[in-house]
Amino acid sequence: MTTVALLGTGIMGAGMARNIAKAGLSLRVWNRSREKAEPLSDVATVADTAAEAIDGADVVVTMLFDENAVDAVMKDVRLGPDAVWIQSGTVGVDATARLAQLTDRFVDAPVLGTKQPAENGQLLVLASGPAALKSSVQPIFDAIGQRTVWVSDKPGDASKLKLVLNSWVLSVVAGTGQAIAFAEGLGIDPALFFDSIAGGATDSAYAQLKGKAILKGDFAPAFGLDGAVKDAALITEAMQEAGTDSAVMKAIHSVLTQAADRGHEKSDMSAIYHGFR
Ligand code: NAP
Repeated sequence: MTTVALLGTGIMGAGMARNIAKAGLSLRVWNRSREKAEPLSDVATVADTAAEAIDGADVVVTMLFDENAVDAVMKDVRLGPDAVWIQSGTVGVDATARLAQLTDRFVDAPVLGTKQPAENGQLLVLASGPAALKSSVQPIFDAIGQRTVWVSDKPGDASKLKLVLNSWVLSVVAGTGQAIAFAEGLGIDPALFFDSIAGGATDSAYAQLKGKAILKGDFAPAFGLDGAVKDAALITEAMQEAGTDSAVMKAIHSVLTQAADRGHEKSDMSAIYHGFR
């Protein structure tokens, strides 16, 4: 039986782990703060160290915050010669290229979807890596996702698509927070904004979802604002390398940072709303 080691049981990793176990794969989990891995002990072996989780595993999945976290965790471990590494955290284009140098059995596999899709096994998996590794990783992708988009055989291409998708997600969330704060500033009930776009060409299910949460003051993190700050910086950097004007993404980064400075770093990214006020 395939043994999977999943490192990083945060908002996303915990849900992904549960679905990997549900698919009947043998699972080990590890998290820097052990208390976040402990609730998975009914379906997985909770390892004391990353090295212990990885030892003898066929597939290693990293779902860590950023490149620094991946470096910190992977620098002290040795992957088995036949082990495949699925790198699913959003670390950007340049970092993915650096990490892919560490092993030729590397699959770049960021995901789209937040906490609930992760818990329901409904993520969209974006994948790029050697075609020969597809059969080893597809069972894991099928467990965590509703669909896999194989972008190319080149690690880094899936991360490029991920940044394109997140540039759009951040733009929608920023636009939503901005519209609410603007309506309030003008003395207009922001609920009228959502009523006005409902069902029309400019409507967006995501704007309605995030908008309702903002109006309720519900900022429980599905996608943390700290992660949005990280991603806006990664997108800005990639845009500059791609020759795309990054003025809008820089502005989104600045408003996100303002919201973080006002104490909302650990809230959902929709707390960008607080940066507009
Ligand atoms: P999260 O809940 O903040 O989890 C982050 C994980 O990284 C935790 O396991 C954390 O360990 C670990 N970590 C951070 N710094 C570390 C370090 N220096 N050494 C070891 N471990 C470290 O974040 P998440 O929402 O699950 O996101 C994980 C990744 O997926 C991020 O790259 C994020 O951008 C991406 N992503 C998130 C979403 C979303 O909607 N949430 C969607 C798609 C992709 P501790 O628990 O010990 O802090």
